[in-house]
Amino acid sequence: MNIREHYSLRALNTFGLEVKARYFCTLATLGGLRTVWQWQQQYPDLPILFLGGGSNMLFVEDFPGLVVHIKLMERTIIGSDAEYTYVKAGAGENWHDFVRWTIDKGLAGLENLSLIPGTVGAAPMQNIGAYGVELKDHAYEIFAVDWKTAEMRHFSVAECGFGYRNSRFKSLEPNRWLIASVTFQLPNKPTWHLDYAGVKEQLTGEVTARSISDAIIHIRQSKLPDPAQLGNAGSFFKNPMISDEHYQTLKEQYPHLSGWVLEEGVKVSAGWLIDQCGWKGKRFGDAGTYERHALVLVNHGQASGAQIWQLALDIIDSVEQRFGITLEPEPNVVGKPMLSQRMPNVVLTQP
Ligand SMILES: Cc1cc2nc3c(=O)[nH]c(=O)nc-3n(C[C@H](O)[C@H](O)[C@H](O)COP(=O)(O)OP(=O)(O)OC[C@H]3O[C@@H](n4cnc5c(N)ncnc54)[C@H](O)[C@@H]3O)c2cc1C
Repeated sequence: MNIREHYSLRALNTFGLEVKARYFCTLATLGGLRTVWQWQQQYPDLPILFLGGGSNMLFVEDFPGLVVHIKLMERTIIGSDAEYTYVKAGAGENWHDFVRWTIDKGLAGLENLSLIPGTVGAAPMQNIGAYGVELKDHAYEIFAVDWKTAEMRHFSVAECGFGYRNSRFKSLEPNRWLIASVTFQLPNKPTWHLDYAGVKEQLTGEVTARSISDAIIHIRQSKLPDPAQLGNAGSFFKNPMISDEHYQTLKEQYPHLSGWVLEEGVKVSAGWLIDQCGWKGKRFGDAGTYERHALVLVNHGQASGAQIWQLALDIIDSVEQRFGITLEPEPNVVGKPMLSQRMPNVVLTQP
């Protein structure tokens, strides 16, 4: 396995940012990890970053350590019991291709998660979700390598700490686990999830996993910018959770504010809050917000990661001032401490 130097990550981040990895390698087999450990012994102070499709990353600057591009490939139908069929996928598999492959095999469950960019291995990191379904609803077990001990460990779903755009891998133990594969349990008798944002309206004919997947592909293509045309990382902020009291106070002032009452509080739409602050379609140089969706930050061509991050901080400030709510970024931000002082979930690349 070759370790390359000063490697461009432009094609490996969906913002299309021209950033470089000081060191870079592609991991196609677990045996290749030996080379990564040797590298780490040589450069113990430099960071390592596992990278899938780069669709949930914002590089504020070049990465000073080793980027390991995960290309562990596998798709296997393991077996089935009365209720489920079990399917295993390697971390490097393209998520959407894998979803369509399960549909081609006559399996259902993942159709609502069609067209989410990225890889299978990154999907558990933030428990990807869309159109009323999350990865945790169909995940069965995860195999991951412990970076501290070099041991492979198996996690049941209950051990993964899955939450809204969150998992133990993302927040409890960041940078500790290399996810090698994910096994799914797909129901032999599927339950369709159609009550979400226009899915029913888009369906024609018989309801099948394929027709739902096709409908969702159509809806997503009409709502979200294609990263190949306009750099972006999907929703840039999580929908914030606020207390019931806070929600009631805001609701008196802003009757159009909608919220979803959950056990932990009330979840409100980050897109609505940002829109109210007048950010939709704004552009500052090549950094901006998408004209159809204020929640999506975009790179119109030559924006730098620092410019996009500055825009994100400005949006956070304005929402905080107007609504008293602090937005949290969804993508993983890699970069300068001075730009990230306020953000607890930002990976710093320099001491
Ligand atoms: C247009 C667009 C639409 C999107 N829509 C959605 C959506 O509807 N729902 C949703 O949840 N997300 C959405 N996203 C975000 C993104 O697609 C997901 O988070 C996806 O799972 C990221 O996969 P990736 O391979 O690109 O991960 P990367 O961006 O490469 O990595 C993300 C994180 O995972 C870590 N990582 C990657 N692979 C591994 C591994 N094998 N082991 C350990 N750590 C790893 C990285 O270090 C990083 O911290 C969207 C993004 C875009 C651009």
